[in-house]
Amino acid sequence: MSPIARPDTKTLFHIDLTWFEKSGRDLRAEMHAALCAECRALYPTPADARPVDRVNPQTGEVTRVDALWECLADHCGHQPEYITPATPLTTAIFRALLANGNNPMSPEQLHQRIGKSNPIAILKVLLSGEVQNGIVPVGD
Ligand SMILES: [Zn+2]
Repeated sequence: MSPIARPDTKTLFHIDLTWFEKSGRDLRAEMHAALCAECRALYPTPADARPVDRVNPQTGEVTRVDALWECLADHCGHQPEYITPATPLTTAIFRALLANGNNPMSPEQLHQRIGKSNPIAILKVLLSGEVQNGIVPVGD
């Protein structure tokens, strides 16, 4: 167990990328599904996006990720239809982190980003037992 204090609305969460591998889920497919129509025309299938190196600003760790990250952070995440009032809360949280390049966000920041629900409710969803799309508190 990692020594994480009881999470609150300022606790930072991110997407555990290894969770997708362990769960047999395809992160690229999930990311591709979040693309706007314009970018989907650019990358018709998840396989069309080339992998790029991404440097974690906190640890300096270099990971090989998809151009889809850049796409979501630089373009789709700014589109009004990326997160709408009709977007389910769990999807909205996941998309907010994708558009943030998976840089950790707290429930308060997530609330500001998605403009719905409230920080306490978002925290409850994140801690609801079942990991939502591999979103976990950031370890120390
Ligand atoms: Zn786009």
